[in-house]
Amino acid sequence: MIRPRVEIYRTESYEGGPVRDILRSYFTREDFYGKKVLLKPNMLQAHEPGRNVTTHPVVVKAVAEIVMELGGECAIGDSPSGWGRKNALEAAGKTGLLKVAEEMGIKFEIFDGSPTRQVKIKGGTVYREISLPENYLKYDTVINLPKLKTHSLTVFTLGVKNMMGVVPGLAKSIFHKRAPHPEKFACAIADLYSVVKPDFTVMDAIEAMEGDGPVNGRTRKINRIFCSAETNALDAVVEKMCGADPLSVPITREVYERGLGKINNIDIIRHYKENDREFDGFRVPLVPRLGRFIPRFALGMFSPLLDRYPRVERQNCTYCRKCAEICPVDAVSFSERIPEFNLKKCIRCFCCGERCPESAIAEKKRLLAAIFD
Ligand code: SF4
Ligand code: SF4
Repeated sequence: MIRPRVEIYRTESYEGGPVRDILRSYFTREDFYGKKVLLKPNMLQAHEPGRNVTTHPVVVKAVAEIVMELGGECAIGDSPSGWGRKNALEAAGKTGLLKVAEEMGIKFEIFDGSPTRQVKIKGGTVYREISLPENYLKYDTVINLPKLKTHSLTVFTLGVKNMMGVVPGLAKSIFHKRAPHPEKFACAIADLYSVVKPDFTVMDAIEAMEGDGPVNGRTRKINRIFCSAETNALDAVVEKMCGADPLSVPITREVYERGLGKINNIDIIRHYKENDREFDGFRVPLVPRLGRFIPRFALGMFSPLLDRYPRVERQNCTYCRKCAEICPVDAVSFSERIPEFNLKKCIRCFCCGERCPESAIAEKKRLLAAIFD
């Protein structure tokens, strides 16, 4: 049985030279020679690289340079939160990823608005087939470039979850509507992952996000780049290093239980001598953190007191209504100009917070959640 291999590199900053050297030592000519290669970063929203919401352009550029050096034809592509070409170009511009494509003279694929093809999902539980953009499917090789971040709904957003960005536009929020609870959402992501498994995953964990990710968390210097051809194995290694049990992370567990990716018997190659202190005390969202000490049934009993819900920070709101447009269950309304959230309808997917261009939607916590956090 072939054991998955996850390689971990240490680098202190987003300096192009050291990042490029790391990736040059990881990839080989056979990986890319003569192939059409797509780089799939995390381009969630139009945020500047320093916010650490999106994959840093230095990492994306370094991978593009290596692919081209090794004889591949390279492009970058993603579909951010929201929809439409204008929205995608705005995100590509602000995250610095469009500039990378321009500097390298390579194509930036916008999945929104591309012709699509129906792809059957064998063994799918939420989706039996899915529409995928032709300008994603035409590539021979996909390099997945996620950012290490926590996520209020899914605990983490790592390599497997990052592939959700190949689903164009608003179809992403339909995922939340069809699968409103974390366990079912993990099934929907596993359905998708079974037909979009990337060839390589390179995770930007030089500066990660902990706490209330994927947008409003805190930056955490981790100084690592993770590389693997086995995305779920990479995710499991990252989760363990962050102090979480991969079986407590619904997406990682679901992918593992379906036999789509491993979480143990992994060869972990550390290309550094230092210890892993940078991960000490890494803050995952509250409920999984409590799950380490409190049985699941007890957590269920206290769940109303541990609830988190969206609330607008009025001073930052520009009344753009993008939060209402993205909400999969129509839980956002505007009685005056300020958005109001119908918490009976709300499924706590926090798509509104991801979509808000002003980071004006905070995650509010009920009593116990606020005390423990
Ligand atoms: S909360 Fe954000 S997305 Fe919603 S209207 Fe205000 S600025 Fe726009
Ligand atoms: S209001 Fe926000 S968190 Fe609630 S369902 Fe709508 S998008 Fe999701």
